[in-house]
Amino acid sequence: MTRSTQPAASHFVNGAYLEDSAGAAMEVIYPATGEGIARLHEATRDVLDQAIDGARAAQAEWAVRSGMERGRVLRRAADIMRDRNRALSELETRDTGKPLSETLVADATSGADALEYFGSIAAGLTGEHIPLSGGDWAYTVREPLGVCAGLGAWNYPTQIACWKAAPALACGNAMVFKPSEVTPLCALKVAEILVEAGAPPGLFNVVQGTGDVGGPLTTDPRVAKVSLTGSVPTGRAVYAAAAGGMKHVTMELGGKSPLIVFDDSDLEDAISGAILGNFYSSGQICSNGTRVFVQAGIKEAFLARLTERLENAVIGDPLDEATHFGPVVSETQLQIVLGYVAKGREEGARLVRGGDRLDRPGSWIAPTVFADVTDDMTIAREEIFGPVMSVLDFDDEDEVIARANATDYGLSAGVYTRDLQRGHRVLGRLQAGACYLNSYNDAPVEVPFGGTKHSGVGRENGHAAIEHYSQLKSVYVRMGATEAPY
Ligand code: NDP
Repeated sequence: MTRSTQPAASHFVNGAYLEDSAGAAMEVIYPATGEGIARLHEATRDVLDQAIDGARAAQAEWAVRSGMERGRVLRRAADIMRDRNRALSELETRDTGKPLSETLVADATSGADALEYFGSIAAGLTGEHIPLSGGDWAYTVREPLGVCAGLGAWNYPTQIACWKAAPALACGNAMVFKPSEVTPLCALKVAEILVEAGAPPGLFNVVQGTGDVGGPLTTDPRVAKVSLTGSVPTGRAVYAAAAGGMKHVTMELGGKSPLIVFDDSDLEDAISGAILGNFYSSGQICSNGTRVFVQAGIKEAFLARLTERLENAVIGDPLDEATHFGPVVSETQLQIVLGYVAKGREEGARLVRGGDRLDRPGSWIAPTVFADVTDDMTIAREEIFGPVMSVLDFDDEDEVIARANATDYGLSAGVYTRDLQRGHRVLGRLQAGACYLNSYNDAPVEVPFGGTKHSGVGRENGHAAIEHYSQLKSVYVRMGATEAPY
């Protein structure tokens, strides 16, 4: 592996790459081999200040452009991303280890969809006219918030940057984005492309580092909003920090979502959903249906066919398009996943397949399935964020709904059944923000996405995201005299 992935500099601030070698060094590792592929520096206080001040200046200029003009820039950026999909996908694969067969269709393409969608609705972000008694009236103006901070997780670095930047910029905000320190490369490309598409320098800045760099962004008085994609513990810390400055927040956090398979479901389809919802991106997806509740009568048939189909997974070089399944993102994450597998064994779950580290360089574990999992086991309660499926048995509808809801998480839920009335009835009672009927893990940009309970606050995507990147000003207009009592 060459260092062709080495960016021109660590940060992208005020429309250009910026280096400050006084920041602590960050080595970027290709998870498939464990090799270093780039060396960056964490942002210093000076870099952060330049980014926030640059964003403030750009935001003032950007906010007075019409929605039509802002939208045009975003749509141009979407076109550029699509034109460069292959190069961006290869970078995403090197940054995360996800196979090219996924990144070609799920990362820059998803980012481009967000830029196009929010670019297309930017011109329509208007207020309303409210008629009042006596000929008086009021109007509302949809205003931007100002400078928004984006904090990203490592599983979808391009998509997360775009899902945050697109609605923020469409509404007239600027952004300072801090990617995960584990996957710092892709967001830099998003910043480059936005400038090329006509965004003013400073509108979208990328600063590198750990939570120590993200922390100051959550408390800085120049920042109006914080949008985090990350774990629940980080969400709690960031939410609390942002509350001190009464900042707006969006929290896209973790989950332990139920995927319920009734005995009347199309078994092949249900297994496809369980595979996508547990092993795509090597299981590193927040909305995964990692508690697979299978109705008792079909459990063994489900497990037998699932195991058979998992044998067809091509595990190998992520840069080979024939590969289905890559490593997890880092050695640290692999150790976390192996720790959960050990817990599953210790606590009496039946290991059906996988479970061991693969004997090759890099951070690899095969798709892993546990059966006979019970609700109290650690692997059924905690988010693993790796390719580990827990299969639990159930007998009837009321029982499975109660058990599915018995968690602090509430991100996603899926139901497989041929009985559509039952499907809607069950989803109506499940406590989750993103639900799927006879499907799993679709995330088109047109549809709001986000969690309930501890899985999040606010929504990304869809028109709903606009509410989280703008605020309404109401203007009351009196058409007659102002009547005072004295
Ligand atoms: P983390 O919560 O560890 O980190 C998320 C981001 O926040 C990183 O950039 C991290 O920096 C930063 N950060 C950490 N602490 C602070 C702090 N105190 N102040 C400011 N920033 C901070 O998540 P991971 O990167 O490990 O990602 C995995 C998690 O993300 C899982 O729980 C997953 O469910 C969730 N996720 C949720 C999604 C959703 O849409 N709901 C989608 C994808 C993932 P650094 O790590 O570099 O130190």
